[in-house]
Amino acid sequence: MEEFDQEKVIEEFEALTKDAERVQRETLKKILEENGSAEYLQSIGLNGRTDIESFRACVPLVTHQDLEPYIRRIVDGDSSPILTGKPITTISLSSGTTQGKPKFIPFNDELMENTLQIYRTSFAFRNREFPLENGRALQFLYSSKQFKTEGGLAAGTATTNVFRNSMFKKGMKAIQSISCSPDEVIFGSDFHQSLYCHLLCGLIFRDEVQFISSTFAHSIMYAFSTFEQVWEELCNDIRTGVLSSRINVLSTRTAMSKLLKPNPELADLIYKKCSSLSNWYGLIPELLPNAKYIYGIMTGSMEPYLKKLRHYAGGLPLLSADYGASEGWIGANVNPKLPPELATYAVLPNIGYFEFIPLGENIEDQDHNNMESSFLRMEPKPVGLTEVKIGEEYEVIVTNFAGLYRYRLGDVVKVIGFHNSTPEIKFVCRRNLLLTINIDKNTEKDLQLSVEAAGKLLSEEKLDVVDFSSHVDLSTDPGHYVIFWEISGEASQEVLQECCNCLDKSFVDAGYVSSRKVNSIGALELRVVRRGTFQKILDHYLGLGSAVSQFKTPRCVGPTNNLVLQILCANVVTSYFSTAF
Ligand code: AMP
Repeated sequence: MEEFDQEKVIEEFEALTKDAERVQRETLKKILEENGSAEYLQSIGLNGRTDIESFRACVPLVTHQDLEPYIRRIVDGDSSPILTGKPITTISLSSGTTQGKPKFIPFNDELMENTLQIYRTSFAFRNREFPLENGRALQFLYSSKQFKTEGGLAAGTATTNVFRNSMFKKGMKAIQSISCSPDEVIFGSDFHQSLYCHLLCGLIFRDEVQFISSTFAHSIMYAFSTFEQVWEELCNDIRTGVLSSRINVLSTRTAMSKLLKPNPELADLIYKKCSSLSNWYGLIPELLPNAKYIYGIMTGSMEPYLKKLRHYAGGLPLLSADYGASEGWIGANVNPKLPPELATYAVLPNIGYFEFIPLGENIEDQDHNNMESSFLRMEPKPVGLTEVKIGEEYEVIVTNFAGLYRYRLGDVVKVIGFHNSTPEIKFVCRRNLLLTINIDKNTEKDLQLSVEAAGKLLSEEKLDVVDFSSHVDLSTDPGHYVIFWEISGEASQEVLQECCNCLDKSFVDAGYVSSRKVNSIGALELRVVRRGTFQKILDHYLGLGSAVSQFKTPRCVGPTNNLVLQILCANVVTSYFSTAF
């Protein structure tokens, strides 16, 4: 097995980041040289030039929509050099949970190598602060289905493409994380069955488990809330050595049956521990006594799950994983001791060429949730990686080794500091506005803050917001915001009315407040949905071929994801209108 040399990895990272500007220049040169024969680059007059100035002068900023015709040809099997010199043979499907529909994105070995570099880098820093002993990882990994496009290319979600890649296993072994679960569980065709088996594997190897992880924190939170439902059944399986009949995917069943042996002592121990916990506080360290931390992406749209996760974690630290997208990786978390709310990502200057559009007030410029059309009105002037300024917010632009050139990722980040000469950025939100009716402008972050504020009123009643979403209802005159909440128990009408008022008051955007005052936006409506509604939304996305590993609850539902809106509306139990204005 390849030895992992932690200090060497850190040294390499230090060297790369000390000279980020040069590394960026060389990276761009390499990308343009490797792909100089691509039709896309040929057509824009670069004529083989590989310097930054020519690149910026010739290559336009693009969105996914602009590249769609090229990607479509690749998907349909045209193997000429279209976006890259070497033909693309694999396509990633972005989760699509933020924008309603999955996007096709080219994937190749270079992106795979970037993935391993990011994992290695953050692992080296993490392991320096939280050293692991030999053991296993309880990883809630799920692969979506891989399929062939009409043109014969392999397609799957980016995480699936990564998990299935032979370099992944080798690379992961090197960083000491042998999963508790056999491949047949990770690649099982039924998510609910795989989740049950992951939990069972975690219990079987409980003494060996060194950390718990998943791509996004939602999956970890979701796994342990499922545990609350199935723990007795899990104990029963361990006691008898016979796998629950709920597992009927043959390959998963066969693999699990090999691991499972009757172990009444272990079953008794877990039963006792679970029975003695108060409201499941500290569940994770009780079940997995040698775990050192919990690891997954915990920033951005994952922040609302931190409270629940901390409850399960007891005192175990929560460490945020890295920052990337199906389009490619961006930064590694090299300050693992920071709590997720403060986590930053140091951009790796050799995995792509990065530019940043300064936002200043520009983010306010957008119209009605339509990122594409607002792009046309603005002429953004991006700056280079080492030119960004501390405290400023930017939109990220990616040029990668897999055929994306000056691609607007649509994420907003804030520069918090520098690691040597590369910026450490904090994820702020997706750039598209979620809620807007007239002059009001509210992002995912604004919604999150408002839900957090109102959620505090629920906490006083020992209740929590399990999950939430929103919608702009224009069927009323004037239109109004609708916030959907799933709550952990029954709240009184008085408290919910207060929450509703608080939600309304907590949107502090001047456009919203002034519109509310003159009633050009109607009273905010809080709709409480049945328990399990957000699980139905997850199931809906899974049905569309999306992977749990990349799932992000859609925080605003509109015409592009009408079916989700239908699920939410069909499950409303009560609703309240704000009386705050
Ligand atoms: P996907 O569509 O599944 O490729 O998701 C990529 C998107 O997930 C990114 O563009 C971000 O909006 C979000 N994301 C990825 N990593 C992080 C992170 N560390 N913190 C916050 N959001 C993230």
